[in-house]
Amino acid sequence: MVVIGGGQAGLAAGYHLRRAGVDFVVLDSQQAPGGAWPHMWESLRLFSPAAYSSLPGRLMPPQGGRTYPGTEHVVAYLTDYERRYDLRVVRPVHVTGVHRDGGRLRVASDTGTWSARFVISATGTWWRPFLPAVPGSETFTGRQLHTVDHRRPEDFTGEQVVVVGGGNSGAQIAADLAGHADLTWVTRRPPRFLADDIDGRALFDAASARRRALDHGDTDTGGVASLGDIVATPAVREARDAGLLKAQPMFTRLDADGPVWADGTIVRADAVIWCTGFRPALSHLSPLGLRDRNGHIPTDGTRALAEPRLHLLGYGDWTGPASATLIGVGRPARDAAREIARQLS
Ligand SMILES: Cc1cc2nc3c(=O)[nH]c(=O)nc-3n(C[C@H](O)[C@H](O)[C@H](O)COP(=O)(O)OP(=O)(O)OC[C@H]3O[C@@H](n4cnc5c(N)ncnc54)[C@H](O)[C@@H]3O)c2cc1C
Repeated sequence: MVVIGGGQAGLAAGYHLRRAGVDFVVLDSQQAPGGAWPHMWESLRLFSPAAYSSLPGRLMPPQGGRTYPGTEHVVAYLTDYERRYDLRVVRPVHVTGVHRDGGRLRVASDTGTWSARFVISATGTWWRPFLPAVPGSETFTGRQLHTVDHRRPEDFTGEQVVVVGGGNSGAQIAADLAGHADLTWVTRRPPRFLADDIDGRALFDAASARRRALDHGDTDTGGVASLGDIVATPAVREARDAGLLKAQPMFTRLDADGPVWADGTIVRADAVIWCTGFRPALSHLSPLGLRDRNGHIPTDGTRALAEPRLHLLGYGDWTGPASATLIGVGRPARDAAREIARQLS
């Protein structure tokens, strides 16, 4: 049994596979533990308190005086988690392809090949940043970056920066830059801030309520999307209350100097940061030919409909409600491990 990806989703899978008595190995392409977290920007804070950002079996301890832990705390927690439960993560191993091989699946990588009866793919999304096609973007002479490229606001001191995106990343990066750069924040629709007292806990509750409704055949509650888009973390709240987070509508094209709006307005920009999301990192599964037109792999729970030996974990709600969060991935990981253990016995 092979788990591909040693971020939080792969670790949650390992925890439940161990409990279910299944022999497994986790293959991870990073040099060190933590999945995507060591790559995120320095000031990022979780959108839930530590205890509400925990993987199965072990509460995340609080981080000093902080309600919302930083990424270094998450990395330390994940590092401890995989050691504590002896999760057999092999690094660095980059899986290049999963192939059908008689009754088994062959997992090919840059360091060797594994033969598996079941595979859990938990490779996340951070590795496939999405940038929308905007007319003229090839003519823009400034820098074009994505969420994954942002590290610290000092990199933009004194520059004119356009941040595109009305989700959490866009709002947090805009807030991060607000005191350092001449900021223009652009969103496709007016930003929807969650009430100040709502954080990831409420989002998780909403996702759980949606799961219960769908499980019972009741009306779809809309889940997280019904609440709003942006968690008012302390930094976002501060920037918003200081009047620094005023969003402009989306521009229609870029020219050499910067974005251009339909009414002819032009904003000169040194850099455009696209906070426009991610796609699931699934290229290693291409040999199985499972993707639909949206680039997703249709699943029943976590199991791929057209390849029952493959489970997908953590990419988004399509692999289980809130499964792309620390606290939400535990349940689909448990279900996948139980199903695999049942099949193996
Ligand atoms: C900016 C941002 C803020 C977020 N904030 C929160 C938050 O506050 N709370 C919360 O719960 N969630 C948050 N999330 C969502 C989620 O928790 C993270 O995205 C998390 O990193 C997802 O974990 P994962 O294990 O699914 O993927 P990843 O962390 O990306 O781990 C996947 C692992 O698979 C490896 N891998 C990829 N491809 C291969 C391959 N072909 N072969 C071998 N290994 C491979 C990668 O190297 C990586 O180590 C946030 C996400 C983002 C982007």
